[in-house]
Amino acid sequence: MPELPEVETTIRGLARFLDGERLERVELRRANLRRPFPEDLVQRLTGARVTGLSRRAKYGLIGTDRGATMVFHLGMSGRWRIDPSDIGTHDHLVMETTGHRFALCDPRRFGSVDLLESDSLDQWSSFATMGPEPLGPDLTAEHLHRAFAGRKQAVKLLLLDQRIVAGLGNIYVCEALYRAHINPVKAGGRISLAALKRLIPAIQAVLYEAIEAGGSSLRDYAQPDGQLGYFSKQFDVYGREAEPCACGGTIKRIAQGGRSTWYCPSCQR
Ligand SMILES: [Zn+2]
Repeated sequence: MPELPEVETTIRGLARFLDGERLERVELRRANLRRPFPEDLVQRLTGARVTGLSRRAKYGLIGTDRGATMVFHLGMSGRWRIDPSDIGTHDHLVMETTGHRFALCDPRRFGSVDLLESDSLDQWSSFATMGPEPLGPDLTAEHLHRAFAGRKQAVKLLLLDQRIVAGLGNIYVCEALYRAHINPVKAGGRISLAALKRLIPAIQAVLYEAIEAGGSSLRDYAQPDGQLGYFSKQFDVYGREAEPCACGGTIKRIAQGGRSTWYCPSCQR
């Protein structure tokens, strides 16, 4: 599943070819992904000029000079292909500039595409209640300390709550808690401010490293220019049940909220 680093690398890859360009042709090849494509998408985007690309959590944003922003989510298996040699059955949206062709390929169709008014993006239902960006200035130890205050829920689960911090996926929560030496099972309200001050740079480091590696999803991911993504990114704990930790302990896998957590009980207390 594309995580935040894959979306960031996708946006950076698309921006190289798309930013400032006019969309000469926009084609929908089916009516829906997880939900229907906006009815006016083709009409509003054909002829529009792209004015900037950015990311919010795991959503990619393509701004235009028509006052409309296209917002996409890659779901479980989505990716953009740039200048594909052919258009296949899983390429559901195709856009062309003078020099390039972009295809949104999503075999499992859990992704989505929406068209929003650029001046009221923050009010969109998916964005309105979202917490700060993990790589932005608003994610601080003090913010987490306030958000966690009195909470009995495990810190691992609180970090996956989009209202507390936006777009952090399972992989990066596991890795960041490991680096900050925080036990994922511990109640959020019992995590000290000092520990949270270790956690913030840990979160940012694991994300930046993955972005630098070109995205780290385990399968179905290719960089937007068509190159394969980095499948072999080495994680410290994620997916490494029963392997030795650097501290001499053994990595353990447990279930939390229906998903796996990997951690080292020896050095994450
Ligand atoms: Zn350890």
